[in-house]
Amino acid sequence: VEHTIEGQTRFPDPRPSSVPPPGSEGPGAVPLLMPLVLVIEDDRRMRKYLRATLADQRFRVVDAESGAEGLVQASGHNPDLVILDFGLPDFDGIQVTTRLREWTAAPILMLSARDEEHDKVAALDAGANDYLTKPFGTGELLARIRVWLRHTQRATSDSLDSSLEVGDLRIDFGKRLAFVGEREVRLTPTQYKLFGTLMRNAGKVLTHEQILFTVWGPAYTKETQYLRVYMGQLRQKLEDNPARPRYLVTEPGVGYRLRISAS
Ligand code: CA
Repeated sequence: VEHTIEGQTRFPDPRPSSVPPPGSEGPGAVPLLMPLVLVIEDDRRMRKYLRATLADQRFRVVDAESGAEGLVQASGHNPDLVILDFGLPDFDGIQVTTRLREWTAAPILMLSARDEEHDKVAALDAGANDYLTKPFGTGELLARIRVWLRHTQRATSDSLDSSLEVGDLRIDFGKRLAFVGEREVRLTPTQYKLFGTLMRNAGKVLTHEQILFTVWGPAYTKETQYLRVYMGQLRQKLEDNPARPRYLVTEPGVGYRLRISAS
């Protein structure tokens, strides 16, 4: 477990340092390392809880109590995942996300308070990958972290996969076919595009704007009613009970998520 160095400079360099953190690399070192998680959180108790929970799961952890310190830690350690509290004393989650996205694609999981619900959409649009609203359970936190670490590993190892499977749902990009279990489901071109977008981002919350941009194009990013109609159609075709979807879930005020069922 690495420790935070107190008294950091307040002017972070956004680029990762060329010198690897001590003990993480180097000739003769054992290459099998647990993912490194950076926690940026000003609430001391929450920070301690996150540190302890992550360390308990054998993750390597570094932490920071402000946005500026978080950016320094990020550039020094090049973390595999960032847990970012939305409300920090110096910068907000959108600013920190924007700075991080200048150089790293590491997943950013945001923690927000109830009264910050509105801002989290902007943070997702700025490049954060996911959010959890406080208070949240430890199981939920760890599940999200695993989804994201798996997601990045998959993105680098088999991004050319021509088919994807989530629970009973399957899409074959080569043949442009969709399935629920063994049953083929006929989709219109737009329904197929929407389903493909959700499958490629399984587990991830997508904002209305992100989905509209990807499926319909830049001129349609405000047309949330299109999305609602098509999402309803997809649920009719893919869900056992469209009124209580298992996979195609609404994230109120934000967008949608294709849920990866606990398995
Ligand atoms: Ca805070």
